[in-house]
Amino acid sequence: MSNQQATNGSTEDTPSDAIISVRKMSKRFDDFEALSNITLDVNRSEVLCLIGPSGSGKSTLLRCLNFLEAYDGGEVRLDGELIGWKDTISNPRRPLSNDKLRTQRQHIGMVFQHFHLWPHMSALDNVAEALVSVKGLSRSEGRDKAREALAKVHLSDKADNYPANLSGGQQQRVAIARAIAMEPRVMLFDEPTSALDPELVGEVLTVMKEMAAEGMTMVVVTHEMGFAAHVADRVAFLDSGRLVTCVPPAELFGQEPDDPRVRTFLQTYR
Ligand code: ADP
Ligand code: MG
Repeated sequence: MSNQQATNGSTEDTPSDAIISVRKMSKRFDDFEALSNITLDVNRSEVLCLIGPSGSGKSTLLRCLNFLEAYDGGEVRLDGELIGWKDTISNPRRPLSNDKLRTQRQHIGMVFQHFHLWPHMSALDNVAEALVSVKGLSRSEGRDKAREALAKVHLSDKADNYPANLSGGQQQRVAIARAIAMEPRVMLFDEPTSALDPELVGEVLTVMKEMAAEGMTMVVVTHEMGFAAHVADRVAFLDSGRLVTCVPPAELFGQEPDDPRVRTFLQTYR
């Protein structure tokens, strides 16, 4: 390790084999700086939990990773490929064509707090839809793949149900199956259990744990500190758009955190 790395702990100028690498990324909404100078790697098969107070920028960071929000400064790469922009240096920046962006987004699965299922389609067709319309599979191929994905979230017996006839936990598992079916390289979860009745949270977390055990790379914004403590490889803490720390959960939860912002936040969960 060079002296410089030893002192600042940063590897930001060295190449890495991270699946997602974020470098000095910033995001503004008009005059408001929502994200400042974020540098973060997500390694292959890693589960990274993102925690922090409401309004700290967690959703914005997640949305910048797949360019649902166009970040302003710095860069985000997936497997080394710049996301969203054509290059990092031109000013103004030139966005990628919609076709290229769509291709990039196929590699990144996203699961939201609200499930956004099509109400007029069965669970099976909700999962099959993008396989047919985006990936170009035939309807029957799409449904075969959708059945496999529904099996992974333990919903084989609900394939013919419409969303209205599924519990919130089951609907969220359909949404997860829909993302899995596209075979993404990484999955992003934005508070996937926050809209659920408490008794339905466990079934969704169980499916996510199983995905983690199978080696899926996952970035999970969550208020489920038990999940962060037991499933995450690292936990990142965001405050006022800044990455305060990103460490293994034992370091964050196992002892009194040094940073007062982290301490205050975690106290609300004790
Ligand atoms: P979190 O997910 O941590 O609760 P967000 O990423 O949703 O936080 O929001 C971070 C900050 O950015 C908040 O102050 C929020 O009001 C602001 N923000 C988010 N989206 C927009 C937007 N589209 N326009 C203006 N401000 C926004
Ligand atoms: Mg949010």
